[in-house]
Amino acid sequence: GVPITLHLIFFQAVASPPSSNFLLLGPSGAGKTAFTTLLEAKSSPASKKSQSTHTSQQSTLVTVSLPPDVPTASNRYRSVNDPSLKEAARNPIKYRVRDTPGHGKLRVSQGLSELQAMAQSKDIKTRLRGVVFMVDTAALVDEATLRDTATYLHDVLLVLQKRAKNGSSSKRTTEIPVLVAANKQDLFTALPPGSVKEKLEAEIDRIRKSKNKGLLDASADSTLDDDEEILGNDDLESFSFKLLEHEVGVKVEVVGGAVKGDQQEEYGSGVRRWEEWIGMCL
Ligand code: GDP
Repeated sequence: GVPITLHLIFFQAVASPPSSNFLLLGPSGAGKTAFTTLLEAKSSPASKKSQSTHTSQQSTLVTVSLPPDVPTASNRYRSVNDPSLKEAARNPIKYRVRDTPGHGKLRVSQGLSELQAMAQSKDIKTRLRGVVFMVDTAALVDEATLRDTATYLHDVLLVLQKRAKNGSSSKRTTEIPVLVAANKQDLFTALPPGSVKEKLEAEIDRIRKSKNKGLLDASADSTLDDDEEILGNDDLESFSFKLLEHEVGVKVEVVGGAVKGDQQEEYGSGVRRWEEWIGMCL
């Protein structure tokens, strides 16, 4: 019986690969709950009506499927006539999204500790494939919102940087990429993704410069925590996502979309380009 059992285990491993986990972060009101609800509805259209509404007090983990025509890293060269497309429609690729609960400060601290736990996990079942950081692009014109959002993103990137730097060079950890989902592009007051990127980079630059200055001032006394780290490099070069990728290996992409526009196909591509980003992580 042993060989047969082994064979079955092997077959199962091939037939259903371990779930790929994505963590959904971002400030309150960005559209995270709306996004997970939409992904769930798209994954099981028949049960659309019975979708549970997510409460904001619990962390939710939903299993959703990738639309069959969205390419993944392993099948991106597939042609539209490929019979495997039909197979994909019958047996779609699944992935898991964890939405983070809470309000305000709580949301941020819970999101960050969730990220820390998932990013450090060596268990293949909980291994993190990517982080989707959602922002409300219509709200970013407000200075305080921009600062809050950039601070949150800065802290997320610092967790990933520490993880990247702690990985031994012999057994390199795969870096966890970040998608900044520039949501609400359907609103006419929304900033385009390019300017969202510029604003976030400039604000993160300000944050790290003031942190660096704080560290220099603090180094006069001996209470300095040597765990403190500066995002990107310590040079005077201004911060950019490119710099972070170059220096640390953590990739950040800013991609526009709209949860609201997805069903109508009116507003750009809805969530399609985010699903394509997810597909490339699978
Ligand atoms: P969360 O706090 O990040 O989970 O945000 P929610 O999912 O609760 O969304 C906050 C508000 O933004 C809700 O009223 C949503 O209907 C709205 N919203 C989400 N996505 C979009 C979008 O793409 N366009 C517009 N106009 N509103 C959106």
